[in-house]
Amino acid sequence: MTFELRSAEVIAVGSELLGSTRLDTNSLFISRTLASLGILLKAKAVVGDDRALLRDLFALAITRSDLVVVTGGLGPTDDDLTREAVTDALGIPMSEDEAITAGIRNRFARRGMVMPALNRKQAMVPEGATALNNPNGSAPGLFIIAGEKIALLLPGPPRELQPMLNALCQPDGLLGARAGLARLHSVSIFTTGLSESHVEELTQPLYARWRDAPEPIETTVLATPGQVELHLTLRSGDAVGAKATLDDARGELVKALGLFAFSTDGRQLPHVVGELLQARGLTLAAAESCTGGLLMARMTDVAGSSGYVRGGVVAYSNELKVQLLGVDQAAIETHGAVSEPTAAAMADGVHDRTQADVCVAITGIAGPSGGTDAKPVGTVVIATRVTGHPLSVRTHVFPGGRDMVRFQATQTAIEGVRRILLAASAARP
Ligand code: ATP
Ligand code: MG
Repeated sequence: MTFELRSAEVIAVGSELLGSTRLDTNSLFISRTLASLGILLKAKAVVGDDRALLRDLFALAITRSDLVVVTGGLGPTDDDLTREAVTDALGIPMSEDEAITAGIRNRFARRGMVMPALNRKQAMVPEGATALNNPNGSAPGLFIIAGEKIALLLPGPPRELQPMLNALCQPDGLLGARAGLARLHSVSIFTTGLSESHVEELTQPLYARWRDAPEPIETTVLATPGQVELHLTLRSGDAVGAKATLDDARGELVKALGLFAFSTDGRQLPHVVGELLQARGLTLAAAESCTGGLLMARMTDVAGSSGYVRGGVVAYSNELKVQLLGVDQAAIETHGAVSEPTAAAMADGVHDRTQADVCVAITGIAGPSGGTDAKPVGTVVIATRVTGHPLSVRTHVFPGGRDMVRFQATQTAIEGVRRILLAASAARP
């Protein structure tokens, strides 16, 4: 049997997965595992224990994807309908496999129990299907070849499904042996300071050529507050060639994105900036108000950060801005706690006390209350003081709720440090 598996869909079955307390996580595992064989997940669905609905969903999925994985609903009870729905759709009969019944009976016997008659349902095997051994449960999986398509029925409990799928994906497994040599290769680019549509505008002209190549590159844009990520995926049997193609594509995108691209190897911004500090032998300190230490937490999340992080001050109240950072009380009264003079004084204050080479101060209004017409919620002032450089002070207004404002404040502050350090190195003779 030689037909190539390229695309897959997952259908997760179980009314409990439609409620508000249980999440379908099996599809994440299935997606990751199939990707290692070069099989791309194209769609997934969650459906309740509904025979007709599952039959229809399955029937549609099997027409458009090479492999359809159905998880759950292989149990012995009346609401477990996956076998029935799938064989309805494929129009194939089922019959009891006595060896499976004997195996299930033994499982019960080992625990000193008699197998309920209901469990015989789990021994029903569609004509031509291969039953898959389930060492962790009673329901065997089923591997069904339907024309040039494959249907794979797996039990719902992750500890039963996972070893079963892993075994199938081994080189001599039923899926591994059919997957061909192609694998999915991917690279990513992380940017900050640009909106999703700005990133798209800069990069879109490049996509068309790659999309039409014999081995097309798929591009996915993932936007989070403060960061837009580009993920490039290529399906190829030639690992060296794929790497070269993706490296070229990434190079062109980075050129188009310029300094907005901060990482091409999966490292997050605090890591990238940490390495810049380390490489230049510089130390970092921060004075944080509205971010409450988030900047320091993110910078020190990176292993090895003790090599460049000196520490910082969380000065949330005005009193502590005065006491711990030496900010002038009168300046706070005149300009406000969220103002450029206050942020500058905080940066100077933390520099006086730590002697760090790079000092960042953040003060703002994270919300939901505290905003005014002049200084709406989301207003954040960031001051950055790098020895040998002019002080940088900027006022931003970030969108979103409290968490988003606080995160973007730290992201922008860390990015500000990166920009100053890169400008510094560009200016070097
Ligand atoms: P069995 O009844 O033999 O245990 P089954 O195939 O009928 O197997 P279900 O009854 O549908 O499986 O699910 C059993 C349990 O497995 C669920 O309660 C849930 O905890 C877990 N489960 C089912 N589907 C998923 C899924 N898609 N993602 C994560 N967990 C799941
Ligand atoms: Mg179920």
